[in-house]
Amino acid sequence: MQRPEEHYRYREPAPIKDKLNPFDSMMSRFNLAAEKLGLDQGVYNVLKSPSKQVIVSIPITMDDGTRKVFEGFRVVHSDVLGPSKGGVRFAPDVNIDEVKALAAWMTWKCAVVDIPYGGAKGGIRCDPRQMSAGEIERLTRAYTQQMVDVFGPDKDIPAPDMGTNDRVMAWVMDEYSKMVGKTEQAVVTGKPLVLGGSLGRVQATGRGVMVAALNALKKIKLDPADVTCAIQGFGNVGSYAAQLLQEHGVEILGISDISGAYWNDSGINIEEAIAYRNSNRGTLEGFSGAEAITNEELLAAKVDVLVPAAKEDVINVHNADKIQARLIVEGANGPTSADADKIIREKGILVVPDILANAGGVTVSYFEWIQNRLGYKWDLERVNRRSERILTEAFEKVYEAMRTHDVSMRIASYIVAIDKVAQTYEYRGGY
Ligand code: GLU
Repeated sequence: MQRPEEHYRYREPAPIKDKLNPFDSMMSRFNLAAEKLGLDQGVYNVLKSPSKQVIVSIPITMDDGTRKVFEGFRVVHSDVLGPSKGGVRFAPDVNIDEVKALAAWMTWKCAVVDIPYGGAKGGIRCDPRQMSAGEIERLTRAYTQQMVDVFGPDKDIPAPDMGTNDRVMAWVMDEYSKMVGKTEQAVVTGKPLVLGGSLGRVQATGRGVMVAALNALKKIKLDPADVTCAIQGFGNVGSYAAQLLQEHGVEILGISDISGAYWNDSGINIEEAIAYRNSNRGTLEGFSGAEAITNEELLAAKVDVLVPAAKEDVINVHNADKIQARLIVEGANGPTSADADKIIREKGILVVPDILANAGGVTVSYFEWIQNRLGYKWDLERVNRRSERILTEAFEKVYEAMRTHDVSMRIASYIVAIDKVAQTYEYRGGY
């Protein structure tokens, strides 16, 4: 039992870190692209407004018997192209503005790679690292119950994101299935293989980052075998991107995670780093295959390619002018703040933007959804080949739009995406 004084005391939620509003960051790019496209004002108003925002309080009983209430979100930004799609993030600082921005980015991401989905994102403000598996399961199931009218295989399809994984998706699928009275695999993607997950889904975002990096290197006429790289973030995206780039001859000199950054002039053995992390409760802390440096040093390091693969706004006005890389491939969502875009462009750095560079994950989620609906399994070769083709076609389309409109690759990708959603909207029509 909780003591009464604990029970009744109102505690202010932990303050959200002093960070830029990610929705504003998204909108400032959207505005630039809309202007270039000469987007109709009415359509502009439709596309800038999320179509649905749900905020729920989720009470669950913790392992020690106390009750806690968590805040959960799901924002559907658009369902113009099809059912909305996007991950669910478990993190202590998730908030509605972040989820709104991430939902809009999913709309543009699906449009840019031309898959028939709208965009959505969800989140629960919690610290999964401090919670037991049982607590996370109860939280996930309770959240799914509250979202049963939002989710659906033809309506809104969640997936993993920061702080969630295939285990969590299995609970979403099971809870949803119980509520609708039948097994419904296609309601969520990123599931374990035995529950209808797709081969290659776990590696898909990192693989897409690798494909984007290789496509961009070709454009700037650099041979992967002569290229050095630093990767910020060593989770699901960063570690697979590092491993696959290394397999293609790229030398990875620096990596980082929440424990700090690690550097080795003669290259880091990524397989060793992954094995170390897996045996060390998920962190690189104490990794001996490299020397410890700071995160800021890693971002400013002398490498050809920089892959930010962690969180929003790590590249910002305070450090953008220090970046020495020639190419940035954004594995994370929103890793560059809007006001840093200009500085980076002036330095002549090519940026493959998030909505293109990290679209490999949602592309294979789409394949998973197709397989679930067909009741059929694709082999890994087919998954990888088709995803590579989709990503490369999108890359070429964006690269061409960059040239035609004389803009950055980021604004070009927004132009391609917004144009597609706007045209579809015009055909479908409003009231
Ligand atoms: N959370 C991932 C993303 O930001 C994947 C979304 C999905 O597969 O639906 O792209």
